[in-house]
Amino acid sequence: MTTHTNSKPIGILGGTFNPIHHGHLRLALELYERLDLAKVLLIPSAHPPHRAQPSMSSQRRLEMVQAAIVGVEGLCVDDRELRRQCPSYTVDTLKSLREDYPDRSLCLILGLDAFLGLPSWYKWEQLITLAHLIVVRRPDTLEEDQSPTMFDFFKQYQTLNVENLKRKTGGTIWVEEIPMLAISATQIRDLIAAGKKPHYLLPPAVLDIINSHHLVRE
Ligand code: ATP
Repeated sequence: MTTHTNSKPIGILGGTFNPIHHGHLRLALELYERLDLAKVLLIPSAHPPHRAQPSMSSQRRLEMVQAAIVGVEGLCVDDRELRRQCPSYTVDTLKSLREDYPDRSLCLILGLDAFLGLPSWYKWEQLITLAHLIVVRRPDTLEEDQSPTMFDFFKQYQTLNVENLKRKTGGTIWVEEIPMLAISATQIRDLIAAGKKPHYLLPPAVLDIINSHHLVRE
């Protein structure tokens, strides 16, 4: 990618957010601060191509993300995948964001697992032409399980200079080591279904929405 820019990058964190929890929120906020991002867009997916339809409706998942970020500078929700009728392919989301932000640096946030699984994503090789990839790794993650394909791809695009995230609109891979919280939406759904308390794993406002609509037990 040859386009150069001077403005702060926009982070992009997609997910089913079924429900959104402190793991997602800390990740977004850490990256917002560490990488000096303009903002992080949390993008709930409507029809995830890789997995079953989320148990909670799009509308509720969107509502939960909105409730989770009230008053937190730097975190925003973007509902473009929910407005599309087709599967939530990340490449299409990035194209749509690129139309909205032609000259901005866009940084797609991916866990190491998601990064290594990229070859199964629709038109995955186009992602790096549309945005930077921020690969989030736990500090204790071993590298020996990396696939040769993704290792070559990584070496081709890796940057060791974080300033490149600001200077270019996309086209590089940056690795950020973040100690992820051991929280998953599956764990939260399982706790609630078993009649246990999921408190302290997710924001109280999100739990209120779940409780008021009896979302998980239904
Ligand atoms: P589920 O348990 O239903 O699979 P999840 O908790 O993994 O859900 P997703 O909506 O699938 O949540 O995740 C969206 C994004 O957030 C992914 O990139 C994922 O890697 C990241 N993520 C999920 N949980 C955490 C966590 N505890 N810490 C940091 N990042 C996380």
